[in-house]
Amino acid sequence: MVVKGRFAPSPSGRMHLGNLFSFLLAWLSVRHEGGTLVLRIEDLDPVRCQPSYAWQLMEDLEWLGLDWDEGGEAASYWQSNRSHLYAKAFAALEARELTYPCFCSRIQRLNEAPHVHEVSPSCPCAALTPSEAAARAAEKTPSYRLRVPHKTISFTDGLQGLYSQDLATQCGDFPIKRADGAWAYQLAVVVDDAAMGVTQVVRGRDLLSSTPRQLWLYEALGLPAPEFYHVPLLLAPDGRRLAKRDADLDMGVLRRRYAPEELLGILARMAGQQEMAAPVSAGQLARVFDWAKVPQEDITVDAALLTKEEKEALL
Ligand code: GLU
Repeated sequence: MVVKGRFAPSPSGRMHLGNLFSFLLAWLSVRHEGGTLVLRIEDLDPVRCQPSYAWQLMEDLEWLGLDWDEGGEAASYWQSNRSHLYAKAFAALEARELTYPCFCSRIQRLNEAPHVHEVSPSCPCAALTPSEAAARAAEKTPSYRLRVPHKTISFTDGLQGLYSQDLATQCGDFPIKRADGAWAYQLAVVVDDAAMGVTQVVRGRDLLSSTPRQLWLYEALGLPAPEFYHVPLLLAPDGRRLAKRDADLDMGVLRRRYAPEELLGILARMAGQQEMAAPVSAGQLARVFDWAKVPQEDITVDAALLTKEEKEALL
């Protein structure tokens, strides 16, 4: 079977070194196997996402020599144009009575934080009868949750090993549609990875705890699940994660400071693929890529990578 991977960026800011690290590993893993890659734009949240960031990201990836075979500019690979597919999946889940309307207000803004692991084991709305729910819906537009089964979902991550989560107690029924009609990340990512024939998902470790929810969605929708590799996050010298909102080591800064092969050399060393940060091309790295050398734990960015001003801002 030919492996099919993907880049799934949210265009909510300029890509930073940590995003790049995950994308590089996704690309290397696929190219090493002679597989193909999809670039899907995850612009579900109209408030945070801007098309200009997506264009910039494509240009940044091209600058580094990380190419893709499908998607990118094509409008049909942008999640904002794929609502009909999420609606269809939602209808299938509804038909199986796996969804219910939720009138709690704190989940309204959920899509703004797809990486946040919301635990809500006992949503009171789960117990509403259809007539009670209809009466409430006349007053307030609900969001919708997916019921989770009383079972432990386990899977073997290609990098992190065995991971298990008891959905009922460690996650709870989770939102799949917001009251304003926006689709939740968890639903969209599963529908899209399946529709695009993705067989391998490589992404940051912060999404490891989302994977059991996604595996439950695959099962509930009768779709085949891909294999997963959750890669380490990059940390600033003070221990916090690099983040788009802080413009940490973003591609603007990095491109001013390094040539593509120098930057790839730095990333390759962090990824355990070479001893030193010697300049290297993406193609050269792909030939020798080895998952067994990639570290499992988060990686603190070498302070020497930062300029004096950046260090002062971080410490
Ligand atoms: N779009 C998500 C993000 O930028 C990644 C989703 C995924 O890889 O599953 O964080």
